Amino acid sequence: LCIPITANTNEKALKEIQEASQLADVIEIRLDYIPHPDLERLLNHRPKPIIATCRPTREGGKFDGPEEVRIKLLEQAVELGAEFVDIEHDSVGAEDFQPLQKRGKAKVIISYHNFKETPANLRDIYARLSDSTADIVKIVTTANDITDNLKIFQLLEEVNRRGVLQYAPTAGKPLIAFCMGELGQISRILAPKYGSYLTFGSLDVGKESAPGQLTAREMLEVYHINEINRETSIYGLIGNPVSHSLGPYIHNAAFRELGINAVYLPLKVENLREFVQGFKGLKVQGYSVTIPHKEAIVPLLDGLDPLAREIGAVNTVVNKAGKLMGYNTDSTAALRELEEAMGDLKGKRATLIGAGGAARAIAFGLKKKGADVTLVNRTEDRARRLAQELGCRYRRFEDVTKIDGEVLINTTSVGMYPKTDVSPVPPEALKPGMWVFDIVYNPLQTCLLKEAEERGCHTLDGLRMFLYQAAQQFELWTARPAPLGLMEKIIRKCISYREAVA
Ligand code: NAP
Repeated sequence: LCIPITANTNEKALKEIQEASQLADVIEIRLDYIPHPDLERLLNHRPKPIIATCRPTREGGKFDGPEEVRIKLLEQAVELGAEFVDIEHDSVGAEDFQPLQKRGKAKVIISYHNFKETPANLRDIYARLSDSTADIVKIVTTANDITDNLKIFQLLEEVNRRGVLQYAPTAGKPLIAFCMGELGQISRILAPKYGSYLTFGSLDVGKESAPGQLTAREMLEVYHINEINRETSIYGLIGNPVSHSLGPYIHNAAFRELGINAVYLPLKVENLREFVQGFKGLKVQGYSVTIPHKEAIVPLLDGLDPLAREIGAVNTVVNKAGKLMGYNTDSTAALRELEEAMGDLKGKRATLIGAGGAARAIAFGLKKKGADVTLVNRTEDRARRLAQELGCRYRRFEDVTKIDGEVLINTTSVGMYPKTDVSPVPPEALKPGMWVFDIVYNPLQTCLLKEAEERGCHTLDGLRMFLYQAAQQFELWTARPAPLGLMEKIIRKCISYREAVA
């Protein structure tokens, strides 16, 4: 793991080098960020191997002075003992680095950056770059779609598995490769699995040297990249957006707790069909599925568990010997939380606000338990259609205050962070003694639940449903009991941290 130093003074850079040395294997000093770099001081007391880089503006860096000055700086860094020096593929004389290599022991990294896309001709680029006298090749592109990562993995596999690319005249040079941007983050995390010589993580939020860089701490403490290797199994969350998901925190910690060699990744998917097809090659062992793909994924799977088939929505996918099987753990999780609180649900009158994927799963479960279900939704037609399909009632949204019953359940996203001061129903809909269950868990104490408490209702937040659905997913994937206590602790910690920073 390499941490780039992006401080803009020598003093700050020296301090950050010391900080970075706690986490990094290698430290990159971005000389282009410092207007007058004091190379001797920066390199003299280096606690870890150093990469000296002075990125020109044309390759996404900050250096806009003369090329001779830039190259001179790098020569000095080599003479002062830098372990690595990064030189852009389009620098003057970038085929033959021998004059530079003779000045010291530094390994030369020849780098290519593409801030627009991940081109199809990555092999040609590798072949051309490795044909120089450089020691290491670095190819960094931009992911415009999650499937762009596959091109990078394929290149890494070819270079590392066979050791030789037939068309690379001087083949087999170590390769650093990943995609930039949010959509490329998985290539930074999976770098050790596919054999990228290095991956990069920032010292802190705001200190990134390239788009999409995660912090080194996140790479190490959430994704445990130091433990990722060729055998690591891949799991992930398919959704859009996914950046605020708690899934990576919970599942990665659970894998580690049980000593399972696996990593769980956030997968921001726009084109679901292409994604499912493309990622088959990675042998992903399991997925969680969230908004907006829970229903759309159904026809793309090889088979469905009977409950998921009946509900018509999938939030869990298990790879069973190459076949992708869909399950729904939302329904059982919500019902478990309700039954733990209310006991037998048979004959209970339940009003569901919402008619989306979660409403469908919960209404289906309630019907199965013999509850009397009424749906209310902003878009009435959607409630009518779902009610017809499930064989339950629906009412106009305006009538929500007139409905009586034992339980009211919010299945919409109303009240969820960041718009936390709104409730999906007027307070008059909340009757004393009624159970009010809000499946939103971010925050736990929603506006709806606050108003419900004030009106003498019993309340249930979305935490246990979230916990149970995640635990059941974990059990379906691993056939091992999920570490419930640990998972709950992590969910609470993440939620209270987010509430504190909000
Ligand atoms: P979905 O399929 O997109 O459905 C969203 C529902 O919310 C629709 O009924 C929609 O009504 C309604 N809605 C959205 N914005 C609204 C607004 N401003 N006013 C009134 N109604 C509004 O989403 P989903 O998968 O059902 O998920 C819904 C929520 O449940 C999300 O917040 C999700 O995080 C949460 N959830 C929690 C858990 C858990 O484990 N605790 C599990 C699953 C989901 P229209 O039909 O009118 O658009």
